[in-house]
Amino acid sequence: MKQGIHPKYYTDGIVCGTCGTVWKIGSTRPNLRVEICANCHPFYTGEQRIVDTAGQVDRFMRRLNVAQERQNERESRRAARTQPEKKSLLKEIYGEDAE
Ligand SMILES: [Zn+2]
Repeated sequence: MKQGIHPKYYTDGIVCGTCGTVWKIGSTRPNLRVEICANCHPFYTGEQRIVDTAGQVDRFMRRLNVAQERQNERESRRAARTQPEKKSLLKEIYGEDAE
């Protein structure tokens, strides 16, 4: 190997952020990390689950709850706003026994 022309070679491997598995791979870059790997990806494990490393599911559930609360609030307001039954004009003029 010729001296002074090769970059530093790291053999630490790649660390998976989800399951913590260390994959032994050499690289010229130190501290490589991946979000998901073949050890924990649902495609390889065959199990149906959502891998949530960025908190996206939590954020979605929070937004869903807020939307549900608003919907309930809107419906209760709509129910409270039901207008009283409108009397017919005939009944208004001639009283209840008209018709
Ligand atoms: Zn993994």
